[in-house]
Amino acid sequence: MSRVAYVNGRFVPHAMASVHIEDRGYQFADGVYEVIAIQDGKLVDEAGHIDRLDRSLRELRMARPMGRQAHGLVMRELIRRNRVRNGVIYMQVTRGVAPRNFLFPPAATSPSLVMTVRRTDLFPTARLRDGVRIVSMPDIRWKRRDIKSVGLLPQVLGKQRAAEAGAFEGWMLDESGFVTEGCSSNAWIVTRDGVLVTHEASHEILNGITRQSIIRIAREAGIPFEERAFRLEEAFEAREAFLTSASTYCIPIVRVDDRPIGNGHPGLLTAKLRQAYAAYAASGRTV
Ligand code: PMP
Repeated sequence: MSRVAYVNGRFVPHAMASVHIEDRGYQFADGVYEVIAIQDGKLVDEAGHIDRLDRSLRELRMARPMGRQAHGLVMRELIRRNRVRNGVIYMQVTRGVAPRNFLFPPAATSPSLVMTVRRTDLFPTARLRDGVRIVSMPDIRWKRRDIKSVGLLPQVLGKQRAAEAGAFEGWMLDESGFVTEGCSSNAWIVTRDGVLVTHEASHEILNGITRQSIIRIAREAGIPFEERAFRLEEAFEAREAFLTSASTYCIPIVRVDDRPIGNGHPGLLTAKLRQAYAAYAASGRTV
């Protein structure tokens, strides 16, 4: 089955899909993106992701490439054409194609929209059974991490560094030693007292859509929850740690910088939250 991409109004074979060399995403990272999971053919947390895409666009004074309803239809058509039941859809909007100039291009310049779909394993058995390792590193990003910008160089370097250290993900530390988030995920711990903790939503982190759903699920289940920053030292004392993102849902962390978390095995609350999130995804509900 050949893959199909969507590029500025057209469905094209993936291998032929391209944008102009003066696309501002290419030259200035002047663009934003979203990744939405597809479970059993259904988009997971669609409304949250599209709301956040709109917010990122607004914050950068960038125009929406098409209406929300049309966008929903095109996403579904792309998934259908690629015959993907479980995987992710990636979408990127840039300020469009214009001669290289820092200033915004003339208002008539249309934003570019590119979308691709690929299969992924949303339920990686070994990873969920064994948990993953994390390494910490300084957070060297800009100060508007709440915008889902395609400017991802710090995360490219961070994830490469983590992979070379044999770890699944990097946790980034601010200048006071607090964990902001993972390179492409939000960071969580469960304290000795059973309190679920994750960094508050601010300009310091990307407010994950999976993060928001997990918070809602935890609240509904009556799990004690604190939205605040934590340091590595607190993570070392924690009972559990995990990460969340649209493409991984919820993954247990068993070691951080080579120190075991809790008993060194995936935690029970982590498994419970993951299960609840997967059930919510399967329901096709969106809140
Ligand atoms: N933080 C960062 C820096 C990310 O890149 C991501 C995933 N794109 C997340 C958090 C998780 O966000 P979401 O749950 O919306 O995928």
